[in-house]
Amino acid sequence: MQMALSEARAAAARGEVPVGAVLVRGSQVVARDGNRTRELSDPTAHAEMQVLRAGAAAMGAERLLSCDLYVTLEPCAMCAGAISFARIRRLYYGAPDPKGGAVESGPRFFSQPTCHHAPDVYGGIAERQAAEVLRAFFQERR
Ligand SMILES: [Zn+2]
Repeated sequence: MQMALSEARAAAARGEVPVGAVLVRGSQVVARDGNRTRELSDPTAHAEMQVLRAGAAAMGAERLLSCDLYVTLEPCAMCAGAISFARIRRLYYGAPDPKGGAVESGPRFFSQPTCHHAPDVYGGIAERQAAEVLRAFFQERR
């Protein structure tokens, strides 16, 4: 999660909403990145989507079996869907996102009958630090 936090800080330095993600398989880091929606003019370029895409390309597979994902913020509905499609084994996230999250907030995607693969979910990992990165970013912009 510390690596994901450093990706979140790097995203903030690029002027992006600071969210970072790391995809791991066992002890190996498969991909790490941050939010790049502005840089790429791509509304789908959330940190989670970035590492899922990179991981799938690196592994040459659409299903990232036995991979775990660390992300600093509760995933949104789009990312929760992608995490499910990628068959991620475990999801670790930092701060909850009552406004845009879809895991413990809003649509609770993984609990829906239309969700065909749900990862094991562990929320609140380094939550205070993850929330602080976001808080500092938005405070600076005001
Ligand atoms: Zn997302």
